[in-house]
Amino acid sequence: MALTSPWTHRHLLGLEQLTAAEIVSLLDHADSFLPSCKDPGAKRTDLAGKSVVNLFFENSTRTRVSFGLAARRLGAEVIDFAVGGSSVSKGETFVDTARNIEALGIHMVVVRHSCPGTPHLLAQHLRAGVVNAGDGAHEHPTQGLLDLLTIRQRLGRIEGLTVALVGDIRHSRVARSNIHGLLKLGARVIVCGPPTLVPPEICAMGVEVAHDLDRILPECHVLNVLRIQFERQKGPNFPGVREYFHLYGVTKERLARARQGVLVLAPGPINRGVELTPEVADGPSSAVLDQVTNGLAVRMAVLDACVKAVG
Ligand code: ASP
Repeated sequence: MALTSPWTHRHLLGLEQLTAAEIVSLLDHADSFLPSCKDPGAKRTDLAGKSVVNLFFENSTRTRVSFGLAARRLGAEVIDFAVGGSSVSKGETFVDTARNIEALGIHMVVVRHSCPGTPHLLAQHLRAGVVNAGDGAHEHPTQGLLDLLTIRQRLGRIEGLTVALVGDIRHSRVARSNIHGLLKLGARVIVCGPPTLVPPEICAMGVEVAHDLDRILPECHVLNVLRIQFERQKGPNFPGVREYFHLYGVTKERLARARQGVLVLAPGPINRGVELTPEVADGPSSAVLDQVTNGLAVRMAVLDACVKAVG
């Protein structure tokens, strides 16, 4: 399906900058790619003659593979940039590296970096389109979109739903992209976690804050269970993993007290036994593998839309 709302953006830097109509249009566009996601033999030529570089300065499994596969399925050429073996390690600036890559005729740059704002910096300096694949704890827009797509697919709507983002809100770019997207599409958003992992300023985004998961459970249509970002913690933010699991771990017993039909999402990687149990992760309420498939469709839609805007 063609994009339902005119898409003029070369870059996807975050969901904060998009309108509700643009988000819905990307979700519809992603829906149209789903059949080719499920048929690995399907060869498309939407991006034939275009090239996409994956610039990942932070670890990634799903997102990197997903972007690479999305670009290839659309017929683009994909270059995987290995940071360890690049001139960045010889002192070249980030923007110089990217400009040099662009001089090779790249149309799209997919970038992940631990520093918030890196994709925005690149977008100012490059003619190529830039897609943010996660910038520090700031945004992860394609994860936000794939979560929205999964909710819409499973529950038939987003408007009017109550969605809880559970866990490490402070360090989560997934939380921020979800908040922007969900609020724009008319959902009620509750962020729930230990006080040390929920920054007070998050209220300004228009969300409700809760610290007692058991109290809010019966109200929620969706629980999006976030990973504790151990690699971003600068000090002890909670007494211990065991206590965290006791208070916030999503278990079968907890789910039994939730609303009937509650949908459980988790962006992955999952720490089984910390944020949720294997029974829940692999159980009927969970849509974690659908999220991965939907992620491919979302990335196909985003690359296609942005490349066409680059021209
Ligand atoms: N994969 C997601 C991200 O890159 C979630 C996570 O790492 O916990 O932000």
